[in-house]
Amino acid sequence: MKKSRAAMRSCCRKQASSKEGRKKHAPSSSQAKPSAPDGLAGRLEEVVLQASVSPYHLFRDTAEVTVFRESLLSWYNREKRDLPWRRQKVRWTWTGGRMLEVNQLWAGLGYYSRGRRLQEGARKVVEELGGHMPCTADTLQRLLPGVGRYTAGAIASIAFGQITGVVDGNVVRVLCRVRAIGADPSSTLVSQQLWSLAQQLVDPARPGDFNQAAMELGATVCTPQHPLCSQCPVQSLCRARQRVEREQLLASQSLPGSPDMEECAPNTGQCQLCAPPTEPWDLTLGVANFPKKVSRRPPREECSATCVLEQLGAHGGARILLVQRPNSGLLAGLWEFPSVAVEPSGQCQRKALLQELQSWAGPVPATRLRHLGQVVHTFSHIKLTYQVFGLALEGQTPVTITPPGARWLTREEFRTAAVSTAMKKVFRVYEGQQPGTCKGSKRSQVSISSRRKKPSPGQQLLDNFFRPLICTDPPSLNSVAQ
Ligand code: SF4
Ligand code: ZN
Repeated sequence: MKKSRAAMRSCCRKQASSKEGRKKHAPSSSQAKPSAPDGLAGRLEEVVLQASVSPYHLFRDTAEVTVFRESLLSWYNREKRDLPWRRQKVRWTWTGGRMLEVNQLWAGLGYYSRGRRLQEGARKVVEELGGHMPCTADTLQRLLPGVGRYTAGAIASIAFGQITGVVDGNVVRVLCRVRAIGADPSSTLVSQQLWSLAQQLVDPARPGDFNQAAMELGATVCTPQHPLCSQCPVQSLCRARQRVEREQLLASQSLPGSPDMEECAPNTGQCQLCAPPTEPWDLTLGVANFPKKVSRRPPREECSATCVLEQLGAHGGARILLVQRPNSGLLAGLWEFPSVAVEPSGQCQRKALLQELQSWAGPVPATRLRHLGQVVHTFSHIKLTYQVFGLALEGQTPVTITPPGARWLTREEFRTAAVSTAMKKVFRVYEGQQPGTCKGSKRSQVSISSRRKKPSPGQQLLDNFFRPLICTDPPSLNSVAQ
């Protein structure tokens, strides 16, 4: 491990110096030319785009690009938010021991698969790449599991100074508005166009700052519902604003004929970046006519029966059973109370759940299994209803044999373990039904939104994640997250 850490430090020094080198040779913003996409794929992409895209949706000259960069970066210099990862240099803690903490720290934030992938990536860097972190968007995406185009571009530009644009949801919104792109932003053609624009615009002298500025503009000014156009640094270049003015003039009929403003092949239906003529302009939306809203399918409804099985007389104090989910699929690898997928009708739930419990803990007294309530948790694509059961083993011989994939935890250990928010809610239902608690009189019905605004007790905040140093000695419970 020591060797790997040393290798990483040496790699970082090399990368830092190459970054400096790039900085010295990079043109300044005012000298800058539009950047071209890298490699053959980029050139092919450009040819395809040039063949099918109206110049109305492009930046046609260097002067426009330069104004965009300078306006955005000056605004960013003044207005950038004080975010934890900007306040201090985040330490690269991509070593096996430290990464054990990621799932635990992020449990409850909904980043389960991201935490797992980060862990896998860290292992790969340490174990297969000799501690050398890939430092270009191409190698990051190619070599690290779970690193997609956006993440690769963000790391390469922000951490290593590579001149590469990035497109996230905020940038999609900004670019669709600035270039009046009304076609479906999730389509391949529009997506390619947006990446091409981002690459053209990124500032060669400050690529990381430029990308952060574009994302920040979308997050704070060019927001989905109520964009603050009067405060926008790129307002003079924004075709959505121009379109709003034209539509308002047309609607007021204060001018005879069409206002003299540039537009893209109106109503011909030939431009693949404009909204189809069947989708009329909505005067009430203004610039928020861009980007086109993509209708999402409602989440699939599923039902699960889950049971808090507690051994009151276990050696060392009461313990509850947690079992590990499979390594793929929803909440992969996380720990949960024994659960089975069931029909929403409720038939056979008890029987199926008892079988599941017995497969982990041996014979259990079926008559003590009690239905306590339900918890509804909406993931991005699944609305999962947990039927919550409880079973307290009293007076039985404690279960001492634990099969692989199962753990008996104390309540304290459970509270700091890497379990999902839904399981924490399930446990609250169970606790609320315990003798001596005031919530025991009614069946509990708890609805949880996956877009929770306030952290629940015990949940880590992202701020905490970026504290100066994460302890290198994982407590024993962190093995739960493995
Ligand atoms: Fe967004 Fe308005 Fe700025 Fe255009 S002028 S980029 S719509 S905030
Ligand atoms: Zn068009």
